[in-house]
Amino acid sequence: MTIDTSVTKNRNGFGKIGLVLLLLAIILAITVSVYMLFFIPDPLVTGTDGFKILSTDNTVTLKGENLKSLEISIYQEGKITDLLKDSTHVKEKTYALQIKPKDLKLSNGRAIVIVKAKAGIFKKVRYEIESVIDTVPPSLEVIRAPSIVNTGSGGFALLRAKDADFVYVKLGERVFTAFKVGSEIDLETEPAPGYGVEPYSAESNSSRKVANTYYVFFPAPFDSKDGDVFYAIAEDTAGNRKINALPTRINIKGSKTSSIEIGDSFINTVVAPMLNEMNLPDPASSFKKVNEEFRQQSQDKIIEVAGNTKSEILWDGRFLQLKNSKVMATYGDERTYFYQGENISSSVHLGYDLASYANAPVGAANSGIVTLSEDLGIYGNTVIVDHGMGLMSLYSHLSTILVEPGQEVNKGQLIGKTGSTGLAGGDHLHFGILIHGYEVSTL
Ligand SMILES: [Zn+2]
Repeated sequence: MTIDTSVTKNRNGFGKIGLVLLLLAIILAITVSVYMLFFIPDPLVTGTDGFKILSTDNTVTLKGENLKSLEISIYQEGKITDLLKDSTHVKEKTYALQIKPKDLKLSNGRAIVIVKAKAGIFKKVRYEIESVIDTVPPSLEVIRAPSIVNTGSGGFALLRAKDADFVYVKLGERVFTAFKVGSEIDLETEPAPGYGVEPYSAESNSSRKVANTYYVFFPAPFDSKDGDVFYAIAEDTAGNRKINALPTRINIKGSKTSSIEIGDSFINTVVAPMLNEMNLPDPASSFKKVNEEFRQQSQDKIIEVAGNTKSEILWDGRFLQLKNSKVMATYGDERTYFYQGENISSSVHLGYDLASYANAPVGAANSGIVTLSEDLGIYGNTVIVDHGMGLMSLYSHLSTILVEPGQEVNKGQLIGKTGSTGLAGGDHLHFGILIHGYEVSTL
């Protein structure tokens, strides 16, 4: 009895439910059609700026939204070439379009990229992008470069590049910008810029005037390895590039090593204040933190500041050393620090320590523009003067700073007084020559 009733109910119910479902389906179909006709959002294609400049090999990444179909073609000299035809029904789709103009038989010059996207039944958009096809790489010639640079030292190269927007030397991930020289230069008479990194070998060819020349200073940082290669690179905005290896070999230079005993008085008077403390429960690890972490932070800041260099030569002739000073520590000393007989930390001293008398006046080594004057961690009160084209000089542990960022200074002009701020045991000047932010040994 119970079973019968339920079967009957189900039969009756099925008919009604079927009807309801049919109605719902019709309503849904009408809704969808109305939506597709009138309410569906417009199709949207982003990333089309990637078509503006096309070099030899391009990957243009596009994002499509609400697409039913997408068609992309390129129009040049009365000829249309299809780049993409796609039908889709997803809400979002990403396309990575590889375009090689030569394979597509396109010529250098102007073209128009036409993007047509559809959504729903009637909705469509059309974009036209003015495009420039440039598959000609810049030309690049290494006119002069040293045959060898020692680690911790620097080099200077003269390059010639045509149709380039960015010229630089690269060592691993490090990029050293080259700067265009304003006028034509005569290779026969052109002297080295007033920075004798390396004497030039005599040119065999006769006098020739060349334009489109670039100067580049580059360091061989202390951690460079034997076999590392300096590459000169010329790039244009389209992304075409020409790479030449410099003939410059890196010579790994041995360094002087020294051991330094860190006493409690140094910990209490120098290290503790740097950590904003008065009592340090673990002197050894506190020293390590300052010597390693703080040192890295200061060096990162110097590299950052180096990016502000002016593109023209601001220096004038030779660089000066602190007056009446004695060199106390030289470039590249490898220092190992001991606390109560235990090796606690090590670092490489990049720069020169010059001692004169306490609060001795410090003059700018050459003319330039002050680019930093502040307390710089282990360097203490520091002034950095930009001499242009990636060359800067650094003055540290100052007791007094007498210049401000942006200020122009002449060679020898007073910029501060020596002191012992930062990680310094006594009054002295830490003086460094920076090439793109790396302290180098040569002057
Ligand atoms: Zn020093």
